[in-house]
Amino acid sequence: MSIAIVSPGKDPKPWLEALRQVDSSLDIQVYPQIEDLKKVEMALVWQHPPGFLRNFPHLKLISSLGAGVDHILSDSEIPHHLPIVRIVDEKLTWSMTNYVLMGVLNFHRQLYRYQKDKDNGIWDMSNPEISIKVGIMGVGALGGDVVDKLMYLGFEVCGYGLNDKKSLSFPYFAKHQLDDFLSDINVLVCMLPLTSETEGILNITLFQKCNPGTYLINVARGKHLIEEDLIPAFEEGYLSGAMLDVFRVEPLPRTHAYWSDSRIQLTPHIASVTNPKAAAPQIVENYKRLTNGLPLQHQINRVKEY
Ligand code: NDP
Repeated sequence: MSIAIVSPGKDPKPWLEALRQVDSSLDIQVYPQIEDLKKVEMALVWQHPPGFLRNFPHLKLISSLGAGVDHILSDSEIPHHLPIVRIVDEKLTWSMTNYVLMGVLNFHRQLYRYQKDKDNGIWDMSNPEISIKVGIMGVGALGGDVVDKLMYLGFEVCGYGLNDKKSLSFPYFAKHQLDDFLSDINVLVCMLPLTSETEGILNITLFQKCNPGTYLINVARGKHLIEEDLIPAFEEGYLSGAMLDVFRVEPLPRTHAYWSDSRIQLTPHIASVTNPKAAAPQIVENYKRLTNGLPLQHQINRVKEY
């Protein structure tokens, strides 16, 4: 029996090496050179060609090579009975938290204002810190760590999630309390999974409900944001700026208006890149669990889409 790596969107070599380092006896085939389709029981995927997994008649488990599974669920040909697992990893969390901290601190300490002042030879000591309260949309594996680290640094933070939760150490708003959540904050960080409910959630109607001048950080998925609503939200004063790591079309087309807008900081989807060495042990562990009929780790709920 074997594992197949199907990742036209990621270099498979580091994954192959990392998996073999964990268990050299594994039989691993790599797309597109998969010689024995019948042997494949587990597929490790990143942006696989839609419908391709149907070629594995004995497939029993699909594992994302990252934290998100939207790239898998968007393939309508994946049989519903197949379990899907994802990566939850300390290194991935650490990098994501550091990225969000960078965005929050740069806004709070006004790095972009001082960069402009430097360009113009201005020495202005007035109002050096913006008073902030940070709202994290999605307090799961990644967002939860951001909340903890921001609180440790002494920032006011609150969270927003799907379900009601009790006994948390921070103020929390459930899905139906979105307006209350937005009225309580002036930095909005999107760390939601992309699902049919969350797609397009960052739109002008939501921005209108934000405190004037709210700063947006989107590290989740490009499809969370209605891109054409962002610049109007700046013009109306609903938002004052944004830091974006993800986009509807990646790489971001060179003609896109975001490149030249000084209110937008952008990075090329690097907030947190899965490290094969860090993630390989849990992939192998899940393969062993599958083989031994044990419960899987980090399995997503197909109905909830995350
Ligand atoms: P988790 O599944 O651990 O957490 C998801 C959170 O979102 C939970 O708090 C959940 O609520 C909440 N949520 C889900 N649906 C809704 C909804 N409709 N309304 C409100 N809240 C909702 O995900 P992770 O933290 O591991 O990852 C989040 C996302 O980050 C990934 O899906 C991926 O898209 C993105 N990502 C981006 C990377 C990058 O480099 N830019 C790297 C890695 C991940 P509840 O707690 O109630 O269940």
